[in-house]
Amino acid sequence: MTIKRGLELLRDRKHSKSTAFTKEERAGLGLRGLLPHAISTQDIQMKRILANIARKPSNIERYIFLSALEDRNERIFYKLLIEEIDKLMPIIYTPTVGQVCKEFSHIFRKEKGFFITPDDKGEIEHILYSWPEPDVRVIVVTDGERILGLGDLGVNGMGIPIGKLALYTTAAGIHPHQCLPVMLDVGTNNQELLNDEIYLGYPHERLRGEEYFELVDEFIQAIQKKYPRALIQFEDFLTPNAYDLLHRYKDKILCFNDDIQGTASVALAGIYASQRITKLDFKDLDIMFLGAGSAATGIADLIKEAFIEEGFTEEEASQRLSFIDIDGLLVKGRKNLMTHNRAYAIDAEEMDLITAIKRLKPNVLIGASGAKGAFTKEVIETMGSINERPVLFALSNPTSKAECTAEEAYTYSDGKAIFASGSPFQPVRYKGQEFVPGQGNNAYIFPGIGLAATLCAASTIPDALFLTAAKSLATLVSQDDVDRGNLYPGLKTIRAISTKIAVDVIRHAQELEVAQKELPKDLETYIKKYMYDPTY
Ligand code: NAD
Repeated sequence: MTIKRGLELLRDRKHSKSTAFTKEERAGLGLRGLLPHAISTQDIQMKRILANIARKPSNIERYIFLSALEDRNERIFYKLLIEEIDKLMPIIYTPTVGQVCKEFSHIFRKEKGFFITPDDKGEIEHILYSWPEPDVRVIVVTDGERILGLGDLGVNGMGIPIGKLALYTTAAGIHPHQCLPVMLDVGTNNQELLNDEIYLGYPHERLRGEEYFELVDEFIQAIQKKYPRALIQFEDFLTPNAYDLLHRYKDKILCFNDDIQGTASVALAGIYASQRITKLDFKDLDIMFLGAGSAATGIADLIKEAFIEEGFTEEEASQRLSFIDIDGLLVKGRKNLMTHNRAYAIDAEEMDLITAIKRLKPNVLIGASGAKGAFTKEVIETMGSINERPVLFALSNPTSKAECTAEEAYTYSDGKAIFASGSPFQPVRYKGQEFVPGQGNNAYIFPGIGLAATLCAASTIPDALFLTAAKSLATLVSQDDVDRGNLYPGLKTIRAISTKIAVDVIRHAQELEVAQKELPKDLETYIKKYMYDPTY
């Protein structure tokens, strides 16, 4: 490796320390005269950056600032994210990333990640050689068709893989050069974007059917050739495609779908933790979903696994779960049931949410519908009237799509609700008590899963590993958190959380014989040693 010097070094984001270069380094590396006199420590640099972030008028401006910081000095960017994850996660990820994606083409500053379009058909393997990193281990890929709850954003959805991979490095210590964000830009059916002359994507209607799957197949094969050890995380695909792709690849290659499997794991962890407050037995829970798409069905599939582990038959497990979608209760008589919904259609007449709550009496109501405000006062009051402590999860992202706010959950249930959300909400004071809403953020799960899969060279990721991750996460919720109604541990400890999940997942992967690499017995030390440390 040639060691860069002078301005070239200062412009190299991997190696620049900017004002932190010491006097000796400045002399030896041709930096004299190129920097102001004072030598900053990394802590002083972080103070300066935090003050600059505070001066920005909006979160999207803060995002742009942080993104530019990453381009200048990768280590200070990650040091800051690791130290200030609770403050910065809402900027680099939900909710701000939603706005970032909407405006991606307009705020575009500098290329990040890898873009593939139908024009690259037949040449994906070849163009992939333009990516300079030889050892990619984690790939997050989207086609931008269902970005958060915001719909088809085409190439603008690239904000999601970029954000998720920043979290991989921050939360699980995956080295930045081992991360690759990918946009499969197959066009968009969002007319507003197609009409926008500034739009940066492939300016055509979406590729569909066989041609679409052929392109994805070609991408997967190209990755298998160039980066055979890489984990592929599917992100924000439209539900039918998300399921098709997952079923196509999950038993063949190292991959998972975060919207389906990661969400499931984090939601199940929340349910396990809620039992410490409700004192209800897991086997006795009835769970209702608002929404029957990839998030809700993914959660239900994993809960079903958990029930089966408790001794239920598949049928008994399914009976504990019910779904309301845009057309009401999911019943057997419904015409055109989607494949992923069939197993959950129940034998009943059609009815709306309120009637279904009164009839089926769920203990847990999980919103993954993208329907803002769907948990109305009446819905929350009804849940409160049939449960001593109703469990309400409003998982839809970003905040503008949440089924209810934290304040509504606590107020309308008269302080009885055990609430968690997809996007963050501030603590709420109600009748003199402080409630801390938990954030059912996938960032609790996917970094640990990815870290485990990478380190043990897993061949595939069986569903059982997501169950393990959920149990692992639930054990990390402190009594103090539970006492304040918070079902998730503090984000500040995210690296410790990912480590614990990775240890448990690796052990289980070894039992299931999907781990292909021998690892030392002391996994915790091994993981800590592997983790990227951006300290100078
Ligand atoms: P999807 O499009 O696959 O499914 C949406 C479902 O909601 C569909 O079944 C639809 O019929 C139903 N729906 C829409 N409007 C409704 C209404 N008014 N009443 C009842 N049902 C309605 O989407 P998805 O991938 O399942 O994601 C749904 C939401 O969950 C998104 O907002 C997404 O951001 C969020 N999500 C959150 C997390 C998390 O917080 N951890 C993870 C993944 C997804």
